[in-house]
Amino acid sequence: MVGVDAMTFDAIGPLCERGMLPSFAGIIAEGCHGRLRTIRPTNSGLIWTSIATGRDYREHGISGLECYDLLGLRLTRITTRKIGKIGLKGVLKVLRRCRLMRRHPFDSRDVRVKTLWDIVGESGGRVGIVNWLNTWPAHPVNGFLASDRLQAWRLARLGVEEPKNSRLTFPKSLLYDVQSLLVPPEKVPFEVLKGYVSMPDNELEALVGGKFDKWTIGTELQYSVSSDLSAWRVFEYCVDAFGPLNLAAVFFWGMDKVQHAAFRYMPFVNRQAVTEEERRKFGRIVPESYAFIDRAIGRIIARMGPEDALFVISDHGFDFEPKRGTYGHKRAGPPGVFFAYGRKLRTGYELDGASVYDVLPTILRLCGLPPAGDMIGRCLEEILAPWFRSQHPPLEPIETYEARGPDHNALR
Ligand SMILES: [Zn+2]
Repeated sequence: MVGVDAMTFDAIGPLCERGMLPSFAGIIAEGCHGRLRTIRPTNSGLIWTSIATGRDYREHGISGLECYDLLGLRLTRITTRKIGKIGLKGVLKVLRRCRLMRRHPFDSRDVRVKTLWDIVGESGGRVGIVNWLNTWPAHPVNGFLASDRLQAWRLARLGVEEPKNSRLTFPKSLLYDVQSLLVPPEKVPFEVLKGYVSMPDNELEALVGGKFDKWTIGTELQYSVSSDLSAWRVFEYCVDAFGPLNLAAVFFWGMDKVQHAAFRYMPFVNRQAVTEEERRKFGRIVPESYAFIDRAIGRIIARMGPEDALFVISDHGFDFEPKRGTYGHKRAGPPGVFFAYGRKLRTGYELDGASVYDVLPTILRLCGLPPAGDMIGRCLEEILAPWFRSQHPPLEPIETYEARGPDHNALR
């Protein structure tokens, strides 16, 4: 399972036409693809956790990317926004300034229900997870887990303390193996960055040399390349090191960031006034980011066995918000993408009407596990190859996979 934040057919379509995405084009021809209805509020942390658990955010506990701690009380962003709306914004500000109210980025301890890797692992399947949102602190799994805070650079920029090497991976010793594979933003090779822009070296040097507290197009590019390159290197290393797995998942964050910074410069996007010069300089950033994902997918396909199935999904698409004058996804909730490929799946099939909630029951079905009655989505039976469906009739749903055990949430 490959998760790519904010990936959209608005880019994949035109880039496939230009021959830039051979792996995606291959899946469209030989596998299944379609749009994926998303969730409101359209927030990445919330949706990726819904994809991993099959549950509503009120049940899984992740209502956004972060919440506030007010004297031990948890206030979600939804609550603080409501408080603000009834005229108490000033009170919140004072509480924050006195540090009585603190920003708390959600983490794995806030996830109250079982994830896909908990379920597959507990049924005896070997699992491997890299960079999925809200996986730090890494809790024990039947395989490996490289948590999202292996890359704490963005949080550090937001002023959140680094987790000090605690529980960044499971097993703990994995940290020492993967640390050298991480590429921090300032260490992304200049030659790599050059592949994303069209400008003289000295201009690019000035662009990326900026401070990270200002999210410029240069620092966002640096951050995104670093994040996705690191996730990919760790994933490839772990998949080799840990041997056959029943479930492997990797998450790429960078696409959302580069699209916010550079979607408007793409050659075929013509909805906002940008100069010809800007378009020439920055127009390749988003296409090259898609090409990176495409190459990773090509590498995965090359190593797939006859029993394997590949899912590539996004939590939501990417849309233009004319009011703000920027590209954003916070309110609009454009659909995400869905790709599935493998011998057990249909060929050249376009599916319609699927939701992000349907990913989990479908993967469970391929793992030979039943869905649960408390999951929102359904198995996408229509994408399964007819021979697979006749050999493997659907299993009766169980009532629930239960909540996570107390030992999970006690983790520190
Ligand atoms: Zn997102």
